[in-house]
Amino acid sequence: MGSAADFPKIDFTSNFQNIINNALSSTPETRQAVDPSTEELLYHVPLSKQADVDKAVSVAKAAFPAWKALSYDERAGYLGRYADAIEANVSGLQELLMKEAGKPVSNAAGELQFAIAHVRETAKLRIEDDLIEDTEERRATVRYLPMGVGVGIIPWNYPVLLGLGKLGPAVLAGNTFIWKPSPFSPYTALKLGEIAAQIFPPGVVQVLSGDESLGPLFTAHPDVAKISFTGSSATGKKVMQACASTLKRLTLELGGNDASIIYDDVDVAQVVQKIGPMAFMHSGQICMDIKRLYVHEKIYDEFLAAFVQVVKSFKVGGGGDPEAFLGPVQNRMQFEKVKDLYSEIGKQKWQVATGGEPVACDGKKGFFLPPTIIDNPPDDSRIVVEEPFGPIMPVLKWSDEDEVVRRANNTNMGLGASVWSNDIEKAERLARRLEAGSTWVNSHFELSPYVPFGGHKWSGVGMDWGIVGLKGWCNTQASWVRKKF
Ligand code: NAD
Repeated sequence: MGSAADFPKIDFTSNFQNIINNALSSTPETRQAVDPSTEELLYHVPLSKQADVDKAVSVAKAAFPAWKALSYDERAGYLGRYADAIEANVSGLQELLMKEAGKPVSNAAGELQFAIAHVRETAKLRIEDDLIEDTEERRATVRYLPMGVGVGIIPWNYPVLLGLGKLGPAVLAGNTFIWKPSPFSPYTALKLGEIAAQIFPPGVVQVLSGDESLGPLFTAHPDVAKISFTGSSATGKKVMQACASTLKRLTLELGGNDASIIYDDVDVAQVVQKIGPMAFMHSGQICMDIKRLYVHEKIYDEFLAAFVQVVKSFKVGGGGDPEAFLGPVQNRMQFEKVKDLYSEIGKQKWQVATGGEPVACDGKKGFFLPPTIIDNPPDDSRIVVEEPFGPIMPVLKWSDEDEVVRRANNTNMGLGASVWSNDIEKAERLARRLEAGSTWVNSHFELSPYVPFGGHKWSGVGMDWGIVGLKGWCNTQASWVRKKF
């Protein structure tokens, strides 16, 4: 592992520029994102246009033949050194992540640690050829070949993990890569690009910042082979449509409305301690946060009361508050969207177990909302049907297994789902009936670089991570050899 002294120093407070062909690249116009804890404007970043995209794609295309010619072990070596260099710069990145994403220190530190480990562990993955048939007459092998220039389009909620979680598999498989961060959180990505420029050969990793017009320039570009997109289902559909005109390969990691089903045999005091963070982590702004909590009617009242106590204990505060567990909503647009959902509380006469509609605080800065639990709203209410992506969620009552499975599956979303019980076999049986890309028993947040992650239905197409994700960065080739004429 490298120490900070082994790597050139990065300035995390100025000089935010695109990284193209391992060089800093400025644009005539710039823009600024906002610190959601203070609403203050952050540093200037590039506003990339078509010419910047063309340059980035062209150098990435030029770098592809030499990069794909390296062995897996050689490419993995670069990734290992990259992980070391990121680790050597972790404190600067953490400060930046807290500012751009509105993350309390525990969340920012956790994201960085997981992301660095992700790069290191991803580097250990290998795809072998599949030998399907080998007779005296012929041999049939399935091979997995890199595609060319890959683009990762990233949302604002986990700017580091989701970016590195695409970069690692893309370049390990032999592709070159362009990282397009969200306009709401471009800062860590640009600095991670600067670090990458010290490690990888020119053209292997690019990072370009811009406004909402930048993504479509990549999905339309004829020399981009693959788009790996993480974001909302609505944008995912636009991305899929745009990729059709050039028949690009595509992975879509989209929204979620994860159900969690609690049986009546659980230890309530223990389970609420686990469910609390898994429902409210990052103020509900995680695709796989628990978003619909179905609690068996026999323990419903006891569970709700204990759950409320846990959620009340979460301190809300900005990046500068070391005791805060929940930060603000990440941006003004999302803040207004979630506030609109809060405004339904009075209109629909939902029962509030804790929290409630935010009271206007004149002059108070930051996109903060009170963590809120809605007690058993109707199944067709917006809080159950929609992905809130904010610190508000419903707790719902159930009594019949078939019925709760039907209700949990009664959504276009299918990202994750969990079942909680002391009877593991019973819980696994129920979990197998849930329509989701990940199911968990007695957990909701198990993730690993070795295990694929993705969604069913409108929650995604394809998967990231693990061998499945790595193969998603490859074209499959059937290779036939006739041994006798
Ligand atoms: P978003 O869809 O608004 O934006 C995501 C990215 O797409 C941004 O970089 C944006 O600039 C870009 N973009 C916007 N329009 C585009 C277009 N027409 N073509 C190409 N790119 C375009 O999503 P968001 O608000 O940043 O993120 C929140 C959403 O992301 C939530 O729905 C959440 O559930 C989802 N999400 C999913 C996962 C997952 O792994 N499944 C992980 C995190 C977040």
